[in-house]
Amino acid sequence: MEPPIYENGRTAALQALPALLLPWYGKNKRDLPWRENTDPYRVLVSELMLQQTRVEAARAHYVRFVRELPDAAALADCPEDKLFKLWEGLGYYSRARNLQKAARAICENGFPETAQALKRLPGVGDYTAGAVASIAFEQPAPAVDGNVVRVLSRYLGDALPAAQLRKRYAAELAPVYPAGRCGDFTQSLMELGATVCLPSSPLCLACPLLARCQTKSDALPLPEKKAERRHTNVTMLLFYAEDRIALCRRKSGVLAGMYGFYTEERALRADELAARLQEAGAGGAAIGRHAAHRHVFSHIEWEIDACLIDCAGCEEAVAAAFGVAFYPIAEVRQALSLPSAYRWALRLFPQQTGAERRAE
Ligand code: SF4
Repeated sequence: MEPPIYENGRTAALQALPALLLPWYGKNKRDLPWRENTDPYRVLVSELMLQQTRVEAARAHYVRFVRELPDAAALADCPEDKLFKLWEGLGYYSRARNLQKAARAICENGFPETAQALKRLPGVGDYTAGAVASIAFEQPAPAVDGNVVRVLSRYLGDALPAAQLRKRYAAELAPVYPAGRCGDFTQSLMELGATVCLPSSPLCLACPLLARCQTKSDALPLPEKKAERRHTNVTMLLFYAEDRIALCRRKSGVLAGMYGFYTEERALRADELAARLQEAGAGGAAIGRHAAHRHVFSHIEWEIDACLIDCAGCEEAVAAAFGVAFYPIAEVRQALSLPSAYRWALRLFPQQTGAERRAE
């Protein structure tokens, strides 16, 4: 790969963008319903609709939405049921709520015309504010989304993850916005990312930036560094009494609301465990064997020390002190949905407990 374009070369490469992209955009832009005019309300609706929704999925919704609610006043007065019906299928209903709140603010105070002022509307962040300001109000306000970062990181040869480039590109693009063509320039960058500079296998031979592109492949931007998993020591207490085993529902954190064995997110020493049982009035419980196990969630890794505890005769005390309830092991094995972080421990219980022994 060629080295990135630095300093003057970089500035020149950025300045060359409008001349390279605008003629290409004029010839190749897709015919999309929100491109029929640059009415600010319509631009805002389309940009909020396109957040987390593909163009094809948004197209029919957009047409219906602006036909039913053609301006901010109509949206501001729209009953919630009707609004949600018009939004049905797009998901993330908070966007619809925000759009209505924004319409009410616009009816009260007028349509903000700068990116800075647009960002005060509910649901409008840097990207949407830049898109509306440039497309509807011809402001030199960059709208840097994933598509734009992809195009520029490849064009300029910036070997960094996208998250580290977004702000920099917004600052670098603003001075090269061409007067009178701000909206087209924003859309040309988006369009190139959406139709030519694809995430994988970009269509470089059809790209107007090919001659100056530093990458000419999908090697950039670099993948985001994955957050390191947090390692947590977990003590898992496997209480049982004859043919029944003790479960509880996790109240918070990972697997909240799910059935599982009693756990504490720390390493519990043997003397601490014995003292806890004594305090609970379950001094007669027999602490059995331990088993180590690692369970990996997406962001956390549990280093589990599971400990079998036979509490026949003192189940009530254990249930009260540890907030668990006892269930027949056969029922748990067959009918309960136990997450895999716990399910592995079922095999640790004595193979033949209570009913199984009696059934022999
Ligand atoms: S030449 Fe290829 S990699 Fe470079 S901007 Fe165009 S499509 Fe993207």
